[in-house]
Amino acid sequence: MQPDILTLLHDVFGFSGFRGVQDQVVGRVMAGRPTLAIMPTGAGKSLCYQLPAVALDGCCVVISPLIALMHDQLRAAQAVGIKAASLTSVDADWRETQDRLRNGDLDLLYVAPERASGEGFRNLLRSTRIALFAIDEAHCVSEWGHDFRPDYRLLRPLLDEFPDVPRLALTATADAHTREDILVQLGIPREGLVIAGFDRPNIRYAVHPRDGLNRQLADLIAGNPGPGIIYAPTRAATEKLAEALGRAGRPTRAYHAGLDPKVRAANQTAFIASEDMVMVATVAFGMGIDKPDVRFVAHAGLPKSIEGYYQESGRAGRDGEPAQAHLFWGAEDFARARMRIAELESARQQGERTRIAALGALVETGTCRRAILLRHFGENPPPGCGNCDNCLNPPPSIDATQTARKFLSAVYRTGQSFGVGHIESVLTGAVTDKIRERGHDRISVYGIVEGEEMALLRPVSRALLVRDALQTNEHGGLELGPSARPILRGEEDVSLVVPPRKERRRKNARNG
Ligand code: ADP
Ligand code: ZN
Repeated sequence: MQPDILTLLHDVFGFSGFRGVQDQVVGRVMAGRPTLAIMPTGAGKSLCYQLPAVALDGCCVVISPLIALMHDQLRAAQAVGIKAASLTSVDADWRETQDRLRNGDLDLLYVAPERASGEGFRNLLRSTRIALFAIDEAHCVSEWGHDFRPDYRLLRPLLDEFPDVPRLALTATADAHTREDILVQLGIPREGLVIAGFDRPNIRYAVHPRDGLNRQLADLIAGNPGPGIIYAPTRAATEKLAEALGRAGRPTRAYHAGLDPKVRAANQTAFIASEDMVMVATVAFGMGIDKPDVRFVAHAGLPKSIEGYYQESGRAGRDGEPAQAHLFWGAEDFARARMRIAELESARQQGERTRIAALGALVETGTCRRAILLRHFGENPPPGCGNCDNCLNPPPSIDATQTARKFLSAVYRTGQSFGVGHIESVLTGAVTDKIRERGHDRISVYGIVEGEEMALLRPVSRALLVRDALQTNEHGGLELGPSARPILRGEEDVSLVVPPRKERRRKNARNG
């Protein structure tokens, strides 16, 4: 990289060097090459356009979906002396900003997508020199992403009108599918994809079935003296939990979008300054907040997606020191999620179902949690991270991969239209009218499950449903789902954790 870039990095931003893929991304941008940068939260995405914005002639236009986030970044940029402004519905100084833009007096202009796509804005851009289009939170352009925003679709004509201006799309949250879609939607060639490693080795992941949540959280807090965030599913839940947990003596506050803005801001400021505060919040809390010493993040219920979980839990330990991520879940979280999905328009249901299944795989697994997270982002981690609950304390589990494969083949070979009972009958070689009529006693999987393995069929079918290797059609028949293939191909294992903790405890109680 040119030495003057490194000088700017040091003099303007105060950094002694690049981190991770930053140099690669900045290098591409400086060379005018279109780029999609996938970088986890905290990896330093903003620098990837702020540095070129300062180095290049002309103004860098940043499209960003959230006004609050935008203003945080704007203030941070202005604080290091970058000539920066924003054009949003809450900015009063439009005229001044437009004049500055025309006069070449801006390095950085933040704008909301609905503004950016308008004709007026395009005219304004024609009157000045544009150095770069940076599209932040680029997953919003994809219907596959978890946060689709139709306004993002209108950006393409704007980008295409300035074909010589390089475009840089950035996101922390994109699975393979969403990634492809962003490239297509924003007209970025495949070679422009830069992916940073997603692993956060200093975070210890642990997942727990909910079993007296307040006590579980109180224990967690008691064992972790540093600052922590607890994500609760609703506004009411944040306030109730904050009150209950606060009684143990640790400073505890609540944060959600429904609080009085002054209270909210005060709570946030107090948290950032504190060395031992617990913040009980909805997921509205944390975006754009720079607090490197958060020691634990707990989820009191199932997050919305693996992406969301990764991002939220990733707010722990940004300083690189040991930190913990705890997820508390119950079967009712899945039931509620499925009910919510049933109410969606049908085009969106499949994507949501896949997201829930991926969470199912994370919470149900008896193997490495980190491996599940990283594989979700397309990485191929070595087995056993040594820093998650399952690696540190392997639960008694059995490898049910063979049985799972048999089950999936039976579903496939019988034409993907029968329920669990019939598939079991076929696999165990039962003699029923239905089997004889359909000729299912003549297919290769008939009777291939015998003896003790028979007891595995039910739990295996449940595990396959949870991870979306199996789906049910509207008549209750089983079909192969998107996660079936890697299991059939031998790329993924299926293990069953035995016995589930709750049943064991209940049995003990009965005996005792
Ligand atoms: P992201 O948007 O990817 O979540 P940010 O742009 O907010 O990440 O950066 C996260 C933190 O890392 C910020 O505190 C930022 O100042 C810091 N940072 C970014 N780049 C560097 C670097 N090259 N060296 C040191 N710190 C950096
Ligand atoms: Zn592990």
